[in-house]
Amino acid sequence: MRSFCWLIVLALLAMPGSASAYCFTSTCKGLDVCDSVEIPDCKPIRWSTNCVGFVVNDASKAGLSSAEIESVANRAFARWRASDCGDGAPPGLHVEYMGLVSCDVAEYNRDAGNANIITLTDEPSNSITGHTFALTTTSFDPNSGELLTADIELNVKDHVFSVGDANVEVDLEAVLTHEIGHFLGLGHSDAIDASMYPFYEPGTTEIRSLSKDDETGICVLYPPNREIDSTCNPLPRHGFSPECRSDQTEGGCATTASTENKLGAVLVSGLALLAGVRKRRKSTRSATARNAPQSV
Ligand SMILES: [Zn+2]
Repeated sequence: MRSFCWLIVLALLAMPGSASAYCFTSTCKGLDVCDSVEIPDCKPIRWSTNCVGFVVNDASKAGLSSAEIESVANRAFARWRASDCGDGAPPGLHVEYMGLVSCDVAEYNRDAGNANIITLTDEPSNSITGHTFALTTTSFDPNSGELLTADIELNVKDHVFSVGDANVEVDLEAVLTHEIGHFLGLGHSDAIDASMYPFYEPGTTEIRSLSKDDETGICVLYPPNREIDSTCNPLPRHGFSPECRSDQTEGGCATTASTENKLGAVLVSGLALLAGVRKRRKSTRSATARNAPQSV
């Protein structure tokens, strides 16, 4: 069902349309908040603390090693962190790499430890179509928009990824740069030069570099001087665990966080990067919001 929804919505995205700007994924199903224009009852999703952690699944697949994923992911996160929010100030969000883990499942556990995982998948779920290079699944509080977990799956079943500048196929760094934008809460942009443009052409590396539109979006989402606790604590909700829920024993290895789960419900959404040629399009979306690929 989730991939079905994406196909419909992505068809809408492919309709002719306008110049544009950055968008944020919102708590409203199917709606992104665009151009910083508020939509009643639709809140952008974002990390509420000033520090978020991520991990890499410790497995090598399709010629890619976990060490390569670590290296490229850290570089891609650093690029977002290096955005210039004015006078050289970076966005108000720290990112901490927390190491290799055994878990390779995109999940949010309300009763066990969690981790924000980057993983290779050669057995993609129904949420990942053959046109999808990667998928970021986020869990968030539907009332506040607080991000709870974000997981990135790279589709190595249907695509050949490459690392580095030689013999570029599907460029791992380009794809991860885009997906990390989703990990941080950004939606798709219509800006043709944005890393958050929803389509990627294999063999290219341009979207490794952030556009001004990308930097503006991340700086609006995480202002450099936002008033939050200055303590950097990358532990996810319900604590950190390198193991998936199915492998966690009761009272076991999860490092317990201090925050108890008081959420009534959690929505899960996914955003993907699809194969396509980056060509200028006209847009039919309004200036305030547009449909975004989102799961049910
Ligand atoms: Zn995307």
